[in-house]
Amino acid sequence: MEILKKKSQVRELVNKERSKKQIIGFVPTMGYLHQGHLSLIKKAKNDGCFTIVSIFVNPLQFGPSEDFQRYPRDTERDLKLLKEANADAVFIPSDEEMYNSNHLTFVNVSKLSEKLEGSFRPGHFAGVCTVCAKLFNIVQPDRAYFGWKDAQQLIIIRKMVRDLDFNISIVPVATVREEDGLAASSRNVYLSPDQRKKALVLSRALQKIEQMIKFESVIDANLLIEEGKKIIKSEDVELQYLEAVELENLERVEKIRKNTGILGAIKVGNVRLIDNLIME
Ligand code: AMP
Repeated sequence: MEILKKKSQVRELVNKERSKKQIIGFVPTMGYLHQGHLSLIKKAKNDGCFTIVSIFVNPLQFGPSEDFQRYPRDTERDLKLLKEANADAVFIPSDEEMYNSNHLTFVNVSKLSEKLEGSFRPGHFAGVCTVCAKLFNIVQPDRAYFGWKDAQQLIIIRKMVRDLDFNISIVPVATVREEDGLAASSRNVYLSPDQRKKALVLSRALQKIEQMIKFESVIDANLLIEEGKKIIKSEDVELQYLEAVELENLERVEKIRKNTGILGAIKVGNVRLIDNLIME
């Protein structure tokens, strides 16, 4: 596995592989890898891609009172996992390699970025889009893999790619969960054992909603959201939002059907967690 720290090294490698007719698959991450990240890499490898993973904790997407400084990092462990997953290359740039000292340009997907996560994390998606646009320009992949776990991010990136004519297919990958149902996340390490138990309430609420849709044929969004909120409020966590939305534009829907999703966020102590149910 090639370990690359410079943009120029990435460009050189990609040119070489492309001349061998390789399809370039790209998996952007912030590291502290878990089974969710590995499932994206597995999908890229199964699709026959020369698979490049990036590890970069992007300062631009963290608010001033968020967890940029304490975001978990363990490069040695990540490299070991990437080798085991047969990733072909990893790009680990420094902050200076990614952003010059006078960076002034931002990519903002308006409207979609202000809803849901955006209303709790102003500026977050502009940070995400800016770094993804840069990474897409550096790597120039044929395909980029994103998890449904971060549904709003996936929807916004897909829109950015369409609006700005990036020649990249965005490939969505289903959420990987821990055995107890908690969506795998680098931030799960912040949870104490007691908080972790409480955190399960979000996936439990989504599971209940899924059962109501599947087995009781309930499609009334208000009814489903009400039931989900009731479950979440029974636990000692802060419910930030639980909404049924159209996946294309994140507008609220009255009825659940194909291409809608139920997106939720809770705060357990200081830890924000998101999860969702996607009707693809
Ligand atoms: P992150 O390192 O949290 O920025 O995530 C990098 C990529 O991994 C994003 O596309 C995420 O949506 C995806 N991802 C994170 N957690 C999961 C999960 N539990 N299942 C599937 N994909 C995930």
